[in-house]
Amino acid sequence: SLSIGIVGLPNVGKSTLFNALTKSANALAANYPFATIEPNVGIVGVPDARLGTLAEIFGSAKILPAKVEFVDIAGLVRGASEGQGRGNQFLANIRNTDAICQVIRVFTDPDVTHVDGEVSPKRDIETINTELIYADLQTCEKALPRLQKEARVQKDRKASLEAVEAAIAVLETGKTVFESGLDLEGLRELHLLTAKPFLYVFNLDADELTDAALKDQLRALVAPAEAVFLDAKIESELYELSDEEALELLQSVGQEESGLSQLARVGFETLGLQTYLTAGPKEARAWTIKKGATAPEAAGVIHTDFQRGFIKAEITSFDDLVEAGSLAAARSAGKARIEGKDYVMRDGDVVEFRFNV
Ligand code: GDP
Repeated sequence: SLSIGIVGLPNVGKSTLFNALTKSANALAANYPFATIEPNVGIVGVPDARLGTLAEIFGSAKILPAKVEFVDIAGLVRGASEGQGRGNQFLANIRNTDAICQVIRVFTDPDVTHVDGEVSPKRDIETINTELIYADLQTCEKALPRLQKEARVQKDRKASLEAVEAAIAVLETGKTVFESGLDLEGLRELHLLTAKPFLYVFNLDADELTDAALKDQLRALVAPAEAVFLDAKIESELYELSDEEALELLQSVGQEESGLSQLARVGFETLGLQTYLTAGPKEARAWTIKKGATAPEAAGVIHTDFQRGFIKAEITSFDDLVEAGSLAAARSAGKARIEGKDYVMRDGDVVEFRFNV
């Protein structure tokens, strides 16, 4: 499943947010309880109102939302790339994630000290990015002599060598590999941190959530990366509330959806992911695929045999299905299409696959 690493300086609200994410996900999606693989990993269901509707139409016993894995990556401090704090452990944890979510403190609270004395989102972003860039520079420079040796005797290693040299040049200017637009293929083996997409969570005071000018300023600091604005303290109160009360609390501070919903949505967007849906009496379920995935590739997410034995897919758009009221009615209205192996999936397709096993 999609995995997002949460990083940030100490005392910015990471743990508060991580606990809120995993606990509210538990309440929202009972079928994916906050599964503890390791203390710092939480698997959460992506809230998706369409699944409830499908469950009603199909009389499904269970709802299984798409999953996002959040990894709370502690230990980022100034100097982490030089082994300060728990630097090495930190780097090992973060390498395995698909995206990096930076939590940036905006809230002010005299009782919560800031490691650098005062709250400054711009400086904190620079500190974190500098650490990640340093870490990648070290990785590249360590790999360089080996790649130079290999490239001398193996022609096909030349591309990797050149890719790493290009990455070093980019990193030395203080840019991330991702924003440089370098071809990532030759760099894949190094698992560079700054080759991953970044997204940003700004942890605001409740009354700042409606400050459009402030949010524009913060957004400009990280553009074109995506920014999510929330109050971790409020997020941590949501999971104790009913859905209605939670929405009321969010609306009282000018928010339409919880931080979890925002973060899951933006995470999907950042990584170019979308979902398709299946439904029956047993379960209504969302499956995660890459944008642009074909019908057989989508089937392969359920089971590799489904991809191999793919014959065709019966596809109804969610909206058509809801309008028709049942799959049978959608079929007789001609809204259930039979698609072959070249069909490119769309978000919200409701699918039944036909396959050989
Ligand atoms: P971490 O070190 O980044 O994991 O930070 P924590 O989540 O442990 O938070 C540090 C302190 O800041 C705790 O006392 C939290 O209660 C407090 N805190 C976290 N988020 C907020 C917030 O949005 N507003 C305020 N006022 N305090 C917060």
